[in-house]
Amino acid sequence: MSILELKGVTKRFGSRQALSSVDLHLPEGSSLGLLGPNGAGKTTVLRLILGLASPTEGRVQLQGLDPEQAESRKGVGYLPERVLLPGRLSVRHFLEVHARLAGLEAGAVADEVKRVTEQVGISDRLSERISTLSKGLAQRVGFAQAFLSRPRVLLLDEPSSGLDPIGMREVRDWIQAVHEQGCSVLLSSHLLSEVERVCDRVAILHEGRVIEEGKTSEIVHDGEALEDAFIRLIKGGPSSQGVGES
Ligand code: ATP
Repeated sequence: MSILELKGVTKRFGSRQALSSVDLHLPEGSSLGLLGPNGAGKTTVLRLILGLASPTEGRVQLQGLDPEQAESRKGVGYLPERVLLPGRLSVRHFLEVHARLAGLEAGAVADEVKRVTEQVGISDRLSERISTLSKGLAQRVGFAQAFLSRPRVLLLDEPSSGLDPIGMREVRDWIQAVHEQGCSVLLSSHLLSEVERVCDRVAILHEGRVIEEGKTSEIVHDGEALEDAFIRLIKGGPSSQGVGES
């Protein structure tokens, strides 16, 4: 069963065509990497999945439901590209509020906040105001929020952006760990090595179209690095690939 599906999705913003006939699916328990150059449409895909925007044409389903139905987001963890956190709140306060919003009973909140902050290594920063945290620590708070309530589906938009190499490695490890526990993952990223490590399959978006989709081993040619395959496909452009229009 697909936990997430886009069928023939087109999105126009005025005269700008952000997505054209996009088909994507994420089988339950699997992980899909969404790759594409700047402006390819990756964030738009995530926004449509979350019901933050509506498709101009086509159909989006999350957990078998239309994203307009709030129920579709139950058990879904999301980390946006730019995490906007309320700087005046302490880490604890922020996560407690979100734990309640995620549906946890009051009595279970403290343990859950402890669990997720230990998971991302910030359990010693709970009383600090978010505004005083470094970028990397703030990103960890974003991850802790996404991990609340052990999501069935994780939607991640460039989760490693701005992190140092150690932070990037940790992000990869966290995603891998939740994926191994059965969580389905959609990961939008510019880091090909991250996608290669974490994802079962990769979809490459270019100018709003899926120009390639498959296992990494199916996308790369003999001995080629994923980066070289990516550049080859992007330079070929959507018109020369002709994939993703079905
Ligand atoms: P990046 O890697 O730079 O984050 P992306 O692949 O996530 O890019 P999107 O943010 O999805 O790309 O944008 C796809 C296209 O749609 C871009 O041309 C962008 O300018 C346009 N776009 C996105 N949102 C809007 C909007 N609300 N109004 C108008 N145009 C938009």
